Amino acid sequence: MLQTIDAFDRIGEENAFAVLARATALAQSGKDIINLGIGQPDFRTPEHIVEAAIKALKDGHHGYTPATGLLATREAVVRRTLSTTGVEVSPENVMILPGGKPTMFAAILMFGQPGTEILYPDPGFPIYRSMIEFTGAKPVPVPIREENGFAFSAEETLSLITPQTRLLILNSPANPTGGVTPREEIEKLVKGLEAHPHVAIMSDEIYDVMTYDGEKHVSLLQFPEVRDRLIVLNGWSKTWAMTGWRMGWSIWPDQLYDKIRKLAVNCWSCVNAPAQFAGIAAIDGPQDDVEKMMRAFDNRRKIVVEGLNSLPGVSCITPKGAFYAFPNIKGTGWKAKQLANALLDEAGVALIGGPDFGVLGEGYIRVSYANSEENILRAIERIGAFLQK
Ligand code: PLP
Repeated sequence: MLQTIDAFDRIGEENAFAVLARATALAQSGKDIINLGIGQPDFRTPEHIVEAAIKALKDGHHGYTPATGLLATREAVVRRTLSTTGVEVSPENVMILPGGKPTMFAAILMFGQPGTEILYPDPGFPIYRSMIEFTGAKPVPVPIREENGFAFSAEETLSLITPQTRLLILNSPANPTGGVTPREEIEKLVKGLEAHPHVAIMSDEIYDVMTYDGEKHVSLLQFPEVRDRLIVLNGWSKTWAMTGWRMGWSIWPDQLYDKIRKLAVNCWSCVNAPAQFAGIAAIDGPQDDVEKMMRAFDNRRKIVVEGLNSLPGVSCITPKGAFYAFPNIKGTGWKAKQLANALLDEAGVALIGGPDFGVLGEGYIRVSYANSEENILRAIERIGAFLQK
């Protein structure tokens, strides 16, 4: 028997991938499955982005790039950050990484070890907790409550900070809830953090432009008082429908930049070069496809919320961001994961049980509306028929 280090027995998973595998297997066996489980846009990457990658390859961009990313790609991120946040960052603080996840991997690895504590949202993206446990740090859940519109509460978050806290993970707009934390709450949080200068912040802003009803995403970058301890995670996956390209970026404070650069040198060397050219085209090219996708998501969001609220025992607040609804299913009498499993097996609808996003996810399921209006309506009908059985 090979003896790996204990950390590998503590590492978790993202159940969305397991559900996707099961749903795909069922579909391949001939079952009609509607997949509302997956967290990726159901649109194709816009054509001009694909063309830019092909052109880069034909132009001979097949080699290593700097570990931090091509300067041109980092400069594109600088332009994009300026246009979405109004904040000018330096390309010397921008890292290009293979997706959004490597930023959370690196940030959590930098601050987690036995004896330290890391705060993360619950319900929240499951990899936060998994990686915290991997490092041996104590995971401290920050409750994300329905009665609060699934936003962070500054007061509750601050109350969980101890002298052992090393990192606070924020996420807005949020997976799995679609919650958006309002400006006044972030202002309160930043003010409160002044008393805790030992706490670094990782703000996961990967859904930054995915907001609705005039709601505006507030970037932590807009608070210069925390810039020297702020890591902002972002990327191409969601906004430009590029999940499989593995293209992410993050903005790091001066004091951490060389550490992440060295981790990249040791681990993945660089992100593949043609994808980095595609990333520039995504940022600088026409945004019509992004706007089209967002209009489609907005329409589906309304259909999903209305449909879910028509189901017996189900209530769903209107999500303000991302492409997820997080309905409360407590009135159905079902445990969330059992309901998700039964819906896949018996109704052919793939969804994710709330507990896959943390203990406070019990009583909820995540519904991704990255699927056509027609399929969403069929799924609601099937869930309704199942619940009335
Ligand atoms: N952060 C959040 C909140 C996400 O929902 C996801 C993907 O689902 C990621 C990060 C990871 O993105 P990527 O696929 O680019 O690694």
